[in-house]
Amino acid sequence: MKVLVTGGSGFIGRALCARLVSAGHRPVVLSRRPARARPVLPPDTRVVASLDEIADHEVLDGIVNLAGENLFSGRWTGPRKDRLLASRVRTTRAVVELCRRLTHTPPVLVSGSAVGFYGDAGDAELTEHSSARRKDFGYRLCDSWEQTARESQRLGMRLCLIRTGVVLGRDGGMLAKLLPVYRLGLGARLGNGAQWLSWIHLDDMTTILMRALESPAVEGIFNATAPHPVTQRHFHRALASAVHRPAPWVAPAPLLKLLLGELSGMLLGGQRVYPRRLEDQGFSFRHPVLEQALADLVADS
Ligand code: NDP
Repeated sequence: MKVLVTGGSGFIGRALCARLVSAGHRPVVLSRRPARARPVLPPDTRVVASLDEIADHEVLDGIVNLAGENLFSGRWTGPRKDRLLASRVRTTRAVVELCRRLTHTPPVLVSGSAVGFYGDAGDAELTEHSSARRKDFGYRLCDSWEQTARESQRLGMRLCLIRTGVVLGRDGGMLAKLLPVYRLGLGARLGNGAQWLSWIHLDDMTTILMRALESPAVEGIFNATAPHPVTQRHFHRALASAVHRPAPWVAPAPLLKLLLGELSGMLLGGQRVYPRRLEDQGFSFRHPVLEQALADLVADS
């Protein structure tokens, strides 16, 4: 399969491209900075700086759409929130335009989203059938991203929307930032620690993306989260224990709010999400339990 991956140079995209190549597929990566993207991608991966570089007659067998400015790139000022949203919506719109232009419409679009779709939801147990509990910025971002991707359905394409939890991997994302801090014994519980954290191991995440690409029967919204979400307090203790350090510290909520502004809501709020549709379809998680996932990730890093 020839698969276009937007955001292919990122934490999830890099792992996906490696998986695609090892399964005999050919990724084509959209990157704003091809020279920086190439060294982190499998050798000979084609990198395009614009979708205009893809000719009308080219055949794409699928698209995975992950591009977007990092949510932790700084305080959520008005202009930054515009950029976070526009980076996803603009790229997704360009992807749909490409599909419209190609002589052979690609059969499938697998498009990113996040459990932030459900808003800060307290203890509520959320499945794909749940609606947003709070229409906060996280919800608005994901909803706009998903709505734009839905335009592909008018072209007769199969669409999978992947509402992703916090992805845990060695080489990026939240864990790569936290591990050095926890190894120094300086990891801290965030606020009262009662907020829910829905997480997923990077290996399971890439398996879900591959399955969405390759299985014609797979369609619609999927929560990409491990079947056992945890509270932040649980996560904090499990990570400290995985690196054999004590866990006495607390980052008080008012301090986080002062330092991070609205972005602190990502850390002090949360979602208790269950991957109901994946489980109903018999998906088997390699890393269903946090302690086991952390043991796997910490051991090799
Ligand atoms: P990364 O931040 O690692 O990578 C995102 C990629 O998007 C970058 O490599 C970059 O590619 C591209 N990008 C960044 N800014 C812009 C911009 N302004 N306009 C267009 N493209 C841009 O993200 P992840 O791999 O961690 O995540 C992939 C997607 O999944 C993201 O949209 C993220 O929000 C979402 N997600 C991630 C989660 C996680 O825990 N990691 C959890 C839930 C959702 P380049 O510089 O090559 O153009």
